[in-house]
Amino acid sequence: MRRLIEKAENDHSLEKAEIVSLLRDEESTQELLKAADRVREKYVGSDVHLRALIEFSNFCRQNCCYCGIRRDNRQAQRYRMSPEEIVLHATAAAKLGFHTVVMQSGEDVTFTVDKMTQIIREIKKLDMAVTLSIGEKSFEEYQAYREAGADRYLLRIETTDKDLYHRLDPGMSWDNRCRCLKDLKSLGYELGSGSMVGLPDQSIESIADDILFFKEIGVDMAGIGPFIPHEQTPLANAKGREFVLSLKTMAMTRLLLPDINIPATTAMETLNPNGRVIALQSGANVVMPNVTQGEYRKKYELYPGKICVNDTPAKCRTCIEYKILSIGRTIGASKGFRGEFLKR
Ligand code: SAH
Repeated sequence: MRRLIEKAENDHSLEKAEIVSLLRDEESTQELLKAADRVREKYVGSDVHLRALIEFSNFCRQNCCYCGIRRDNRQAQRYRMSPEEIVLHATAAAKLGFHTVVMQSGEDVTFTVDKMTQIIREIKKLDMAVTLSIGEKSFEEYQAYREAGADRYLLRIETTDKDLYHRLDPGMSWDNRCRCLKDLKSLGYELGSGSMVGLPDQSIESIADDILFFKEIGVDMAGIGPFIPHEQTPLANAKGREFVLSLKTMAMTRLLLPDINIPATTAMETLNPNGRVIALQSGANVVMPNVTQGEYRKKYELYPGKICVNDTPAKCRTCIEYKILSIGRTIGASKGFRGEFLKR
């Protein structure tokens, strides 16, 4: 195992069978995480980039079996912010010192192309990078957002096991999700994708495929988090909650894609009170503090036990800043695009 970790650390390339054996092996876990931490330092430095997350609507036309805001969850209390509210959230985030806003929502059809492009243009006036995470759209829509100024797009592939994807995302097509990722890349977005770890019937082999997939499609960012079952979904009784395996998958992603951005995901902190710091010390270099205000925070419930639902944006910013500085890391002062560190 030590030899495999060395190979991954030096060549950033492993065969699928090698990835599988490292993900399976329990004794070498700490070595794997430490190697990912060294590669992170070498390729992206000690800066942690903060991205302000605005959860602007939980209406969704999709019905993903793992997700708490799926269409058929009648108990979800739906909300959507007005365009003015969204821009106010972004303005507040800029005042708190963020250089990126991430606008995330369910697939809410009332946000038409016109409405979205206007919001993007307003936010761009604040001199912030804009990341969208609003699901599957047509090439033309992605193009319109890009022309309005959107810089990045996050769309997790969720799993590269096609059969599993089709069972968990009824009515959706894995090929279309791939088409979206390719369209986004061709339009010049910084491309973020990612996956969940610990889905029912997900094999270690398919997790290795997920990592190789990130490499193949050339992601600039990969968000990897544990699946956490939500009571009001068909997967209520699934096990999930695989903290260590998620961490190892993330670390392996750092070893094989050394210079990309990798967030310490909120779902990791939900499973371990120190989850994000542990992730930052195992390959991650990005955190996405929540800047959603008031009652909306609780209502954007993808999974239960979401952290900081009663906190304010300022509190979340100060809290994570303290944690980052206390482990000897620094806060990124730039927009944090991929490759910035190596160009310095
Ligand atoms: N509608 C957008 C945003 C999705 S929500 C889109 O389709 O991209 C963001 C991410 O939350 C999803 O991509 C999924 O990976 C994750 N997620 C959803 N339900 C989850 C759960 N129960 N546990 C952990 N992560 C979950």
